[in-house]
Amino acid sequence: MDNLSVNSKGHLCIGGVDTVDIAAEYGTPVYVMDEDTVRRACREFKASIEENYGGGMVCYATKAFCCKEMCRIMKDEGIGLDTVSGGEIYTALSVGFPAERIVFTSNNKKDEEIVYALENGVGRITCDNIEELRRISSIAVGMGKTARVVLRLKPGVEAHTFEAVMTGQIDSKFGFAIETGEALTAAKECSALPGIELSGVHCHIGSQIHDIAPFEKAAEVMIDFIGRLRDEGITIKDLSLGGGFGIKYTEKDIPVPYGDYMKRVSARVKECCRAKDLEVPFMMIEPGRSVAAPAGLTLYTVGSRKTIPDIRTYIGIDGGMPDNPRYALYKSEYTVTVANKANEPKDEIITLAGRTCESGDLIGENMPLQHAEEKDIVAVLSTGAYCYSMASHYNRVPNAPVVMVKDKKTRLIVRRETYEDVARNDI
Ligand SMILES: *Cc1c(COP(=O)(O)O)cnc(C)c1O
Repeated sequence: MDNLSVNSKGHLCIGGVDTVDIAAEYGTPVYVMDEDTVRRACREFKASIEENYGGGMVCYATKAFCCKEMCRIMKDEGIGLDTVSGGEIYTALSVGFPAERIVFTSNNKKDEEIVYALENGVGRITCDNIEELRRISSIAVGMGKTARVVLRLKPGVEAHTFEAVMTGQIDSKFGFAIETGEALTAAKECSALPGIELSGVHCHIGSQIHDIAPFEKAAEVMIDFIGRLRDEGITIKDLSLGGGFGIKYTEKDIPVPYGDYMKRVSARVKECCRAKDLEVPFMMIEPGRSVAAPAGLTLYTVGSRKTIPDIRTYIGIDGGMPDNPRYALYKSEYTVTVANKANEPKDEIITLAGRTCESGDLIGENMPLQHAEEKDIVAVLSTGAYCYSMASHYNRVPNAPVVMVKDKKTRLIVRRETYEDVARNDI
């Protein structure tokens, strides 16, 4: 990560700020985000869609990391938001985020969430299934509104990624299948349903993808489908190709430069449109992980060191699954370093153990690390996405705070929870 450095004390720095100082000031565990890295990713995506496609809308997938300050940054960067719940929409609206630039995508929207989105003028609703489509129609009619709807499709493309984060194939809980005719039937039904304006089609083929080909293939399938709809007299204006751009967690990851992705996908979309004599659709992409993950890291304090001879060494830290469930969920790999010994060689292989009552509460196994002992600060890198947003209160652990770094200064953007916060709704 190019926002990281090591200072003269041998301490790891993020955005030029000593992480050991951050741990001392804010306590641990603590998430730290570098604002410039977040903004740079937004600008890179925006520029790539403008230069290669001639415009479109970048929507940050808020599920990666949603809080008021992230929504303010996205508002300031002039990009849109891809949200998945009333809570995320609420967070965005609470900082004055323009509702028109919000997309509401989920596979099962509650009625009250649909009402909330329509009431507040959310720009587009990505519809997942036929029952939902009919529900959106009747709710919109009841409110005297028209819902601008985008249909989520399964393009049948399999991207090489972890199974739990693969979403484009036919056996997926998300969206309408193209192969079975389900998607076509739904699109036709849209024209018959009052309160619905079918504006586009959407797909999202998976996450942490390091390959452009599956995106090109998905674009091809989507344009082909838009062509079939045109033949049925249905005009599609928007094409959303989702997110899923991979990032570097460890040396094994070789991410594609985002500009290259847009370049090839734009060319393919335009080529397919030309072949079918279709107007080029309005393009939307939804990067989540790639905007938030590289900007963040998590700091922990080491409490214990337990060596089991000939088996392994556990380094016990003061956080774990409640602030980062990704290893428990997906066996995700991370790069770790001892922040106060950043210049020392990583000459041990350790397992980083979380503090909750769960053997599976690990941040990673067989990871190279400097010799770590009590009171050392361990930094887990690239945790800006899907960590805070997936946090739980398991073992009644209060959620960790988020600190933002900018211009070599820090500011709190999410407070640490207290025990009172954890028990707040108990009766
Ligand atoms: C999760 C998701 C995204 C973002 O995915 P990343 O892998 O974080 O880029 C975008 N769009 C949809 C519909 C999603 O479900």
